[in-house]
Amino acid sequence: QPAAPAQPPARAYDLLRDLWGYGSFRWRQGEIVAQLAAGGDALVLMPTGGGKSLCYQLPSLLRPGVGVVVSPLIALMQDQVDTLRQLGIRAAFLNSSLSAEGVREVEAALRAGELDLLYVAPERLLMEGTLRLLAGVEVALFAIDEAHCVSQWGHDFRPEYQGLGVLAERFPGVPRIALTATADDRTRADMVSVLGLEGAPQFVASFDRPNIQYRIAGKDNAKRQLLEFIRTEHAGDAGIVYCLSRKSVEDTAQFLSDSGVPALAYHAGLDHAQRQEAQARFLREEGLVVVATVAFGMGIDKPDVRFVAHLDLPKSMEGYYQETGRAGRDGEPSTAWMVYGLGDVVNLRRMLAGSAAPEWVRRIEGAKLDALLAYCETTACRRESLLAYFGEAYQGPCGNCDNCISPPQVREMTREAQMALSAAVRTGNRYGAAHLTDVLLGRDTDKVRQWGHHTLPTFGVGAEHDERTWRGVLRQMVSLGYLEAGEHYGLSATPKSRELLKGEVPFLLREEVLQPRRKTASKAR
Ligand code: ADP
Ligand code: ZN
Repeated sequence: QPAAPAQPPARAYDLLRDLWGYGSFRWRQGEIVAQLAAGGDALVLMPTGGGKSLCYQLPSLLRPGVGVVVSPLIALMQDQVDTLRQLGIRAAFLNSSLSAEGVREVEAALRAGELDLLYVAPERLLMEGTLRLLAGVEVALFAIDEAHCVSQWGHDFRPEYQGLGVLAERFPGVPRIALTATADDRTRADMVSVLGLEGAPQFVASFDRPNIQYRIAGKDNAKRQLLEFIRTEHAGDAGIVYCLSRKSVEDTAQFLSDSGVPALAYHAGLDHAQRQEAQARFLREEGLVVVATVAFGMGIDKPDVRFVAHLDLPKSMEGYYQETGRAGRDGEPSTAWMVYGLGDVVNLRRMLAGSAAPEWVRRIEGAKLDALLAYCETTACRRESLLAYFGEAYQGPCGNCDNCISPPQVREMTREAQMALSAAVRTGNRYGAAHLTDVLLGRDTDKVRQWGHHTLPTFGVGAEHDERTWRGVLRQMVSLGYLEAGEHYGLSATPKSRELLKGEVPFLLREEVLQPRRKTASKAR
């Protein structure tokens, strides 16, 4: 591809000022606009809120013809088109929400050359009729928004996105720009190959969100921990709390309300009107906490969300980044707070083990879960680990994550990990964490008696530690893949555990789990 000028044409600055009312380009927007305006392609990786839209909207106006924007977010098209029309830009959309009459009107406007921008859902664009229609008009550029949807590695793979490779074949002279807020290497490679962007320059922004403080703690009593967190640090603030199930969403919302924190529940079980109402209230009211399943947040642009709390683990680092990224869009200090425990880790591992998905899907999901759990257990700077996952070299300490603020003490507990492995193996690799803990602590329970586990050499070898420490050890062992959770929650030693048994690698436990429970008023008896 020919090298594009580094500066966009003068008219770009006029439009920026006169239409959008912005004083200058942000980050490398100017270069991207110049690249497209000169007829080149581009791949743009920028976090949400970075200003991706301008990168294709402005060049669409600079070039003759209509800019065609492919987006999977049908629900947002109307809003985007309305906003553009208010700026005086001739915009329209084509998707399944339009009536036949509506479609005819948009198509007529397109043929008459009366559109600057056309938003279209991928399945609509790929219809032969639409492709032919576009072949008959002048197209300024194709913008493929949410381009990570082409990748099976991405967190919201959409098969229809894979068909977008035809754009390169059928419209060879039309510039293409792919945009996403997901940046890991594999997704990026997929976008390049599927969309035919091999020669295109890549504009990769930093994904760091310096105003977000990342914190992760062991789960004790999640709801109480959440309440204490909100009361001590975010009283009166707007926030989002993510839970995995509808039931825990409802329980948690109720619990917060009962405790004097204004909260409402949001999940897929609510009807459309109820969900709209919840979103509207969240945007309108101050200091409201929404307790939600992951369904909540897509396309919600509330700048002053002061915290995002996870009471259950997200599915992947991508999910974590996206969900926590809804905090602090205004750049003010915000908190990404999460608690997780042995039960969560076991559950996720179990779900994966019992999944009916094809082998390759499970492998990808397993690798993603490993990455997430390693992030949770890390004693290094969280920001550094998070950004490293997205391929960004960042040197901690950042000074704004739990590990940097109060560096966790690590204690070598290789011997303890070996004891735990021995307990699992000697009891037949089929008991859950609670029973293994009983065996390690030497507790004379009915189950221990029933199976004769009090006669094992491992019985009671771990009595010098308390139950909480053992749960921490087991959690970290499951997280790091030394123990594996089977279908009935039973923990079994993995092949990887041999390196621990042989003493080839040390087992380092975060000090946090070694500390005694913090005493709270309600627990004092
Ligand atoms: P993204 O699509 O990357 O999430 P948007 O395109 O929606 O981001 O832009 C995020 C916000 O940044 C919007 O409110 C937009 O108006 C604003 N913005 C974008 N570019 C500029 C700019 N050059 N100057 C000022 N504000 C901008
Ligand atoms: Zn840090």
